[in-house]
Amino acid sequence: MHPVSKRAKLFVVLACVAITVLHGWQSWGARNSDLDNARISSGNMARALAQHANDAFQSIDGLLLNVADRVASQGMGNPLVAEMAPLLHRLSVEMPELDGLLICDELGNWVVNSSGEPHQDGNSSDRPYFIFHRGHDDRTPLIGTVLRSRSTGRWVIPVSRRINHQDGSFAGVALATIDLAYFTEFYRTFDVGARGSIGLLLRDGTLLTRQPFDEKLVNRDFSDSRLFRQLLPAAQTGAIANNSRIDGVRRLFSYQAIRKYPLVVTVALSEDDVLADWYQETAVYSIGVLLLLLLIATFGWHLIGQIELRLQAELKALKAKDELQELNRTLETLAHQDGLTGLANRRHFDHVLEKEYRRACRGGGPLSLVLIDVDFFKQYNDIYGHQAGDECLRQIGKVLKNQERRSSDLAVRYGGEEMLLLLPNTDEAGAAQIAETIRAGIQALGIAHSASPAAVVTVSAGVNSILPDRQHIPPMEELLGKADAALYEAKRGGRNQVRQARQTPDIA
Ligand code: GH3
Ligand code: MG
Ligand code: MG
Repeated sequence: MHPVSKRAKLFVVLACVAITVLHGWQSWGARNSDLDNARISSGNMARALAQHANDAFQSIDGLLLNVADRVASQGMGNPLVAEMAPLLHRLSVEMPELDGLLICDELGNWVVNSSGEPHQDGNSSDRPYFIFHRGHDDRTPLIGTVLRSRSTGRWVIPVSRRINHQDGSFAGVALATIDLAYFTEFYRTFDVGARGSIGLLLRDGTLLTRQPFDEKLVNRDFSDSRLFRQLLPAAQTGAIANNSRIDGVRRLFSYQAIRKYPLVVTVALSEDDVLADWYQETAVYSIGVLLLLLLIATFGWHLIGQIELRLQAELKALKAKDELQELNRTLETLAHQDGLTGLANRRHFDHVLEKEYRRACRGGGPLSLVLIDVDFFKQYNDIYGHQAGDECLRQIGKVLKNQERRSSDLAVRYGGEEMLLLLPNTDEAGAAQIAETIRAGIQALGIAHSASPAAVVTVSAGVNSILPDRQHIPPMEELLGKADAALYEAKRGGRNQVRQARQTPDIA
C-alpha cells in the first residue's frame, strides 16, 4: 500500500476514534451531571422533609409536655383531669397531624382522651410505651413504633411522656398519637418519579412510613442496612447510590437525620428515572454519531480507493513513460545506426557532417575525412558468398570503430562496402596516419581473399581535410568529393594504399 493511502486510512480511523471518544466523554459528562443534579435535589428534599417532620413532632411534643405538666400539677386522681376531655378533643380536631391524646394512670387505665366520647374505658398497660415509662424515670419524650390506634383504628406513631406524682413516683403516661397518614399524604404530594421513594424512620432503624405506602413495610427493621450501620454513625446527612433492599432498584439515596428527635428522613430517586431523558438523548445522539461515523468511513474509504487508483495510474504512467523513453532511445540509436556493422549510417553522417562543417567554418579548426573501399569485394562475394562478405564488412567496421578516439570522431558505413571516418579537429597529416592505421589494421585481420594480390582482404583509402578560414571557405561537398577522388587515385595506384587529396592551389 502506498504511504499516502496508509496515512489517509490512519487519518480516517483516527477521526472516527476521536469522534467516538468525544461522544462517549460528552455523554458520560452529561450522565454524571444529571446524577449530580438529582443528588442535589434529593438532598434538598430530604432536608425540607426533615424540617417538616421535626416541626410536626415538635408541636405534638410541646402539647404533650403541656398536658403532662398540667396533669402532674393537678394530681392524677383529681377529677379536673377528666374534665380536660373537651379541650383534648378540640386540640385533636384542630391539629391535622394529631390523631389523638390519651392520659392513663399508673395502672394503664385511660383517665381521659381526645375521642370526644366520655365513657371510654381502655387500658394501655400492655403497650410498649407504657411499660417503658413505668420502668424509666425519664422526662424526655418517647417516639414509638407504629401502632393501630385502639380508639380510631388508624395507623399512628405514638409520642409519649411519663407523668410523675409530686413525690416523683410513676403516676401514668400522657400519650399523643400522630396520624401516619399525615406524613403519607404529605409525601404523596412530592414527585419522586415512578420508582422513587420517601421514608421516615426511627434512628434505631425501624421504618415508620414510606412513600409509596406499603402496609407490609411498616415497622420493618432496617437497622442492619448500610445507612444505619455506616452512614448515620458518621454523618447526620449524606447521599449514596445503592440497590434497594426492598425492590432491588438502584437508587440515589439522600438522608437527613433530625437532631432533636430520633428520626431520619430518606429521599431516594431511581437512577433509571433520573437518567430516563439522558438515555433517550444519548440514544438519539449515538445514532447520529454512528451515522456520521458510517458516512466518514464510507466516504473516507471511497476517497482512499480513488487515491490508490490515481496513484496506481500515476505509477503506470511513469513506467510507461520510462519504457517509451527507452524505446525512443533505442529507436533513435537504430535510426542512426547501420544494421550490419553497428556504425553510424549515412543519414546520421549527413547530419553530423553539417554540424561539424559549420563548427569548422566558425574557426573550430580542421575537419578531416578518411574514406575506405574494400578491394576486389565483388570477387570476395563471388568466391566466399554474400554472408561471408557481410561478416567481412563487420570486421572492417570494428577496425574503423576502434579509431574513433575522440568523442567527436564518427565511423560511418557510407554505403555498400564503403565506410568512412569523420575526424573533426584533426589535420590532414593526422588523418593520413589514422588512414594508414586502418588500412594496416584491416590487412592484419588476415581475412583470406584468394582473388586479391595480397591474398587477404585489403582496403584502399582516400584522405581529405579542410581548414576553412576568412580567405577561403570550401564548400561542404568538397570534403567528401576530394576524399573520393583520392580513393579513386588509390585504386588506380594499385589498391591497398592510402592517398591524400590533392589540395586546390590557393588562387589568391
Ligand atoms: P574495387 O577493388 O575496384 O573496389 O573492386 P570491387 O569488386 O570492390 O568493386 P566495387 O567496389 O564496385 O564492388 C562493390 C561490391 O560490393 C558489389 C557488391 O557485391 C558488394 N557489396 C556492396 N554492399 C554489400 C553488402 O552489404 N554485403 C556484401 N556481402 N556485399 C556488398
Ligand atoms: Mg565500391
Ligand atoms: Mg570495392
